[in-house]
Amino acid sequence: MKTFYVTTPIYYANDAPHLGSLYTTIVADCLRRHKRQRGYDTYFLTGTDEHGINIQRLAERLNVTPKQYTDQIVEQFKRMFASFALDTEHGGYDIFMRTTEPFHYSGVEELWRRVAGSKTPKGNDAIYKGHYEGWFCPNCAEYKTEDEYQRPEIESDPPSCLIHLKPLDRVSEESYFFRLSDFDEALLNLYESRPDFILPESRRNEMISFVRRGLDDLSISRQKTSVSWAIPVPDDPSHSIYVWFDALINYITAIGFGNDRDATVGFAKFWPAVHLVGKDILRQHTVYWPAFLLAAGLVPPRTVFAHGMWQDATGRKMSKTLGNTIDLDILHQHFSNDAVRYFSLREMVFGQDGRFSYEAIIDRTNSDLASGLGNLSSRTLTMVGRYCEGRIPSGRISEDKLLLAKRTGVDTDETTISGFIEHARDQFLQHLDNYTFSRALEVAWSIVARVDKMITEAKPWDLAKDANQQQTLGAVLYRSAESLRWLCVLLYPVMPEAMQAIYGQLGLNHSLADLDPAALEWGGLHENTTISEIKPLFPRIDKAKTLAEIRQRSEPTGAHATQAAAVTGTTATETRPGAVRPHATEGEAVNDTRESDGLIQIEQFAKVDLRVGQVLKAERLPKSDKLLLMSVDLGEGKPRQILAGIAQYYEPEKLIGRKIIVVANLKPRKLRGYESQGMVVAASIGEEGRPVIATFTEEVPNGARLK
Ligand SMILES: [Zn+2]
Repeated sequence: MKTFYVTTPIYYANDAPHLGSLYTTIVADCLRRHKRQRGYDTYFLTGTDEHGINIQRLAERLNVTPKQYTDQIVEQFKRMFASFALDTEHGGYDIFMRTTEPFHYSGVEELWRRVAGSKTPKGNDAIYKGHYEGWFCPNCAEYKTEDEYQRPEIESDPPSCLIHLKPLDRVSEESYFFRLSDFDEALLNLYESRPDFILPESRRNEMISFVRRGLDDLSISRQKTSVSWAIPVPDDPSHSIYVWFDALINYITAIGFGNDRDATVGFAKFWPAVHLVGKDILRQHTVYWPAFLLAAGLVPPRTVFAHGMWQDATGRKMSKTLGNTIDLDILHQHFSNDAVRYFSLREMVFGQDGRFSYEAIIDRTNSDLASGLGNLSSRTLTMVGRYCEGRIPSGRISEDKLLLAKRTGVDTDETTISGFIEHARDQFLQHLDNYTFSRALEVAWSIVARVDKMITEAKPWDLAKDANQQQTLGAVLYRSAESLRWLCVLLYPVMPEAMQAIYGQLGLNHSLADLDPAALEWGGLHENTTISEIKPLFPRIDKAKTLAEIRQRSEPTGAHATQAAAVTGTTATETRPGAVRPHATEGEAVNDTRESDGLIQIEQFAKVDLRVGQVLKAERLPKSDKLLLMSVDLGEGKPRQILAGIAQYYEPEKLIGRKIIVVANLKPRKLRGYESQGMVVAASIGEEGRPVIATFTEEVPNGARLK
């Protein structure tokens, strides 16, 4: 049996899932459903990458083990995927892969040993011991990459830590290296001989020129003393395997490389895979990964497809700090899963960047789904119900009625429309094979338009008034219903729920998962099939109302706040409009220094130490509906515990990772037995004093002072 193995990247488990993770997983799910229809034995992987210094440090700050930390992130991912029907139970992924699985450890060890025992194409040892050199912050106890440090003003000076704003040390430590530099020719040969190894073509060209410039060897371990949350190097546990030599290997350990899953899934059966990745991790998947595999004597992946990124409606990058991200809960609540899937696949030209906004998804849903496919389906079925007693009519027009039919303008040659649809089907399949989902959907909608036009021109409602035209009427409705059946089979991978439902309304009950669109034949819908109850599947969305609801739910950014005030620990109603200042009864500094005209001197403002903080953890305080207990990193080494009276307005999970402003020199005070070591600055809106937390639209380091 032909096999097809598709993967999403394994998402880094340092943060809650976002639109990007949902998107790639939708695409993978669609591809896999399509391949299953085509008769392939399929396997679909998604999951999380759980090791590394970032997770180690996040966990340390929260006083939990790294595994406890990632367990909780994994739960969020699984819940999200289940709500969008992408989990195993809904016919989605086969495995939620975690790099903390013991079978992954044994697979990685096996691959390390194989590579360590092998020679490069140029005859050298593939792994060797050397020294890794980098910029190290002693306060963070970690190496900083280029985007994590500030360049010095004088070139000969060291760069400084963005968090501590102190100079970094040049540090060198013993590390294992993978001799990537010896693989340039082998990789170029691979790209040359397999034009579909890297898709789209623009990305392939990018990687060809990258490799042609020459490759550096790759550091694949760290001292255990600098990174302990990792897989140990086999036979040398003082070293930890570093990042890519762990994460990438999940794609083969999941199907049984170097472990006992081989018996249940099958490495030889499913490898090589099609990897769907964001363009930001293209190099790792098309240079490092095939080189590791070649070194181990294994076959490189079948294809690595790099897709673009979602931007907001104006083309800006989506980011938490800009506050322009898509909220997956809102998406789930206001749109059907199928609408989200359709929009994602239709709107982004796969491989290029796309724009995602609530407004755009409403427009697409209304035009393409409600007015387009949904309308075609309900009008066809309604007419079959009304004019044919709920039974699919015959599509034939007998000899003696041909002339009558022709007089109405109806094409008596059925192959005109069946030929059109067969051709469209072939194009549709070709587009899916080429990963051009958007074009595939355009083609499918050309069928919708063609059939709509046929109905509008034939006017079945007029034909129904003339008993002599019964066959003509039947022919029009048959063609329409049969086209609908084809659309159900074609579009099932894109909108599984809705297509199965329309299929059911046509009176058919096969599982679309097993129907091969390539095997569709015109006329497969049998005369006299009894249709079932007609339910609209794509209701129109009231745009203004929905957008207003969404706006109300999503948090406006601090920039919109006209009144700045402080939210203190007890209740939001304690906030007061005016300048940014802490709660008056606490703020002696403010009271004492007020001038009679109500204005203060700059020195007086300077007494308030406002700092940038990042929320590491947030949870509701037991028995309080108002208070959130937060752990906030002010760049001080140890996070602060802060209570804020915002629980009625903010979901704690949504705050994690957010940059906020904290009054850092406020006397600590106890609330419900918890010490609050600072105060969150927020605007106070409206009568009820709804708090809106102040935030930043640009990247700012934790601990930075506001002045
Ligand atoms: Zn630092």
